[in-house]
Amino acid sequence: MRRCLRCNTEMIENCSIKVQNSAYGIDLATDERRLFNKRIGKPQVAICPACGEVSIYIENPKALNETL
Ligand SMILES: [Zn+2]
Repeated sequence: MRRCLRCNTEMIENCSIKVQNSAYGIDLATDERRLFNKRIGKPQVAICPACGEVSIYIENPKALNETL
């Protein structure tokens, strides 16, 4: 469970983000040059229902350390 950094309300998790007018998703990478071979994974999105804060995070931060 994630709490909003701003107002400490429980956030709605497992939301998704997409580029408007496109079916493409967004991939996060540690390095632009390594975008195609060192993927961290799809970003997870949580939204605060109280203040509207949007939080984007990765599900497995350990994967980040493995790629650095
Ligand atoms: Zn909030």
